[in-house]
Amino acid sequence: MLDGARGLARGFWTVLRHAAQPPTTLPYPEVKRTLPPAFRGRHRLYRHADGLERCIGCELCAAACPSSAIYVQAADNDPAAPVSTGERYASIYEINMIRCIFCGYCEEACPVDAIRLGPEYELADFARPEFVYTKQMLLDPEKYAPPRQYHADVDETDPELRRQIPTDEDLGEVYRAHRPIGAPIESPPEERHHPLA
Ligand code: SF4
Ligand code: SF4
Repeated sequence: MLDGARGLARGFWTVLRHAAQPPTTLPYPEVKRTLPPAFRGRHRLYRHADGLERCIGCELCAAACPSSAIYVQAADNDPAAPVSTGERYASIYEINMIRCIFCGYCEEACPVDAIRLGPEYELADFARPEFVYTKQMLLDPEKYAPPRQYHADVDETDPELRRQIPTDEDLGEVYRAHRPIGAPIESPPEERHHPLA
């Protein structure tokens, strides 16, 4: 009996102690919590500063995805009007967000930093087709994301994430310069062999 009363008193004391402290909950959705910089929400595909797509259709992201959520179909760039800086580009790029587990393996596998997981986490919707994101939706969610799945206050204004996107200068030369299809590949200068070697 004494043990029960002691336990009851301890329980009341715990409640009283915490009642005096400020709440740790937020009145969501009016107030949204600041996300950590490494938060992994909805993906976004990025472009170079000149407008060309970063994605070169290599399919490494699709190969790395443990959920088989990504489908990429590559096509050759038209030298007169290239879509990306590589010889190829993604003519179809789709992510099935119902399969995605937000592991981030796709962005780690990408050799040209074309895809990043962003801060958008309010992705509830009603129809299954709304969860298959096309390339257009991933490149330009402001315009093409399903209206229920786009929130400017979350998606657009994360300066920390924008800061993490490398500039073209951070990438290797091969991804900065576009070599038109069929153009001669510059061979390295001939090695000079020492006559006695
Ligand atoms: S975050 Fe993970 S599960 Fe989602 S598409 Fe990328 S690799 Fe696949
Ligand atoms: S997003 Fe990156 S890894 Fe995926 S196909 Fe495009 S270039 Fe390759």
